[in-house]
Amino acid sequence: MKNRPIIAVTCSFDEDAGSYKIHQDYVQALANSGAIPYVIPNLPEEDIDSQVTVADVDGLLFSGGTDFDPNWFDEEPRYKLSEIVPDRDSLEIELVKEAMKTGLPFLGICRGIQAVNVAAGGSIYQDIGSQVEDSLRHQQDAPTWHPIHQIEIDSRSLLAEILEATSLQVNSFHHQAINQVADGFKVTATASDGIIEGIEADNGNFQIGVQWHPERMWRKHPIHEKLFSRLIDEAKR
Ligand code: MN
Repeated sequence: MKNRPIIAVTCSFDEDAGSYKIHQDYVQALANSGAIPYVIPNLPEEDIDSQVTVADVDGLLFSGGTDFDPNWFDEEPRYKLSEIVPDRDSLEIELVKEAMKTGLPFLGICRGIQAVNVAAGGSIYQDIGSQVEDSLRHQQDAPTWHPIHQIEIDSRSLLAEILEATSLQVNSFHHQAINQVADGFKVTATASDGIIEGIEADNGNFQIGVQWHPERMWRKHPIHEKLFSRLIDEAKR
């Protein structure tokens, strides 16, 4: 068994600044829970042979960030679609597909849950506010660690087993969400407006997505740390 597994963390790219970017809370959450965090860039097509693969790491964390290009799920861009980072979309979709083949453990957070769902053949709402009637406000104007809305968790899910809970208060910073759930995945958590807040693979592997941001919450609300601990335990195997 490995002492400290290597967990790859995907990141975004600021086109104007020419900078890769990742919030420190992702890497600090992983380090705190016992991993070696390994931030991986989204390389352009011509450098694809230099891209990190699932064989290089012990687990994956798909982080939050920009919107998905709706071409991935055969839709035209809606008016409220926001920033797209094509190389990031490609990388994450490839990594999810490879991880599904090999059983590599992964956790998708916010955009990450959407990366998992799109890669596995599902679709997402490009903009909750204009596509889902009577939706909650999923973009909170409150400190990032503050739990703003409730989720109900399926008691038969791995998520419920990990968190030892069937409901939870979570933070919320997303204007996109899962629409059609991909084959091979099941919904594990929903908000009161029906928005999907958690999915996991049917195959029994730790291949999970959550729509909230546990990396912003664990310091004040330790229950959220369990997701990182479990990812790391699975990555040690
Ligand atoms: Mn939410």
